[in-house]
Amino acid sequence: MAEYDLVCDACGAPLVPEDAVVSWSRSGDEERGFALTHTAHVPGGAAERLEGRQIVWPNTYLTFVGERLGRRIADPEPLRAILWAIAPFVMRHDNPTEMDSMRAASFGARLGVKPGTQPSSLAAGAQEKHDAGK
Ligand SMILES: [Zn+2]
Repeated sequence: MAEYDLVCDACGAPLVPEDAVVSWSRSGDEERGFALTHTAHVPGGAAERLEGRQIVWPNTYLTFVGERLGRRIADPEPLRAILWAIAPFVMRHDNPTEMDSMRAASFGARLGVKPGTQPSSLAAGAQEKHDAGK
């Protein structure tokens, strides 16, 4: 099983985002029973659901996380596990900033900045101040 494979909370079998559903129950501002399952294994009574093929979109993922803030989560651990499990599908391994940081590291340059890039005047000012403090 690959590192990024999802696992169904109900049957324990591998799961691909296209066939995954995040489901939970809501009562007022309290939410509980978060589960990541096959579409066919959504727990009965879980009225709230978001399809895996939607939640792997960065905007949908962040909207889902943002909507949970301010809600009372009765059992946060399953929700945390779901967010961690889905994150690799959202935050791609070829994130350009991460790639530039790896290149920068190999050149001994500044992380997060593509080698050869001239800093903005504001960033350069901050950099000089930092360097002067050495
Ligand atoms: Zn299942």
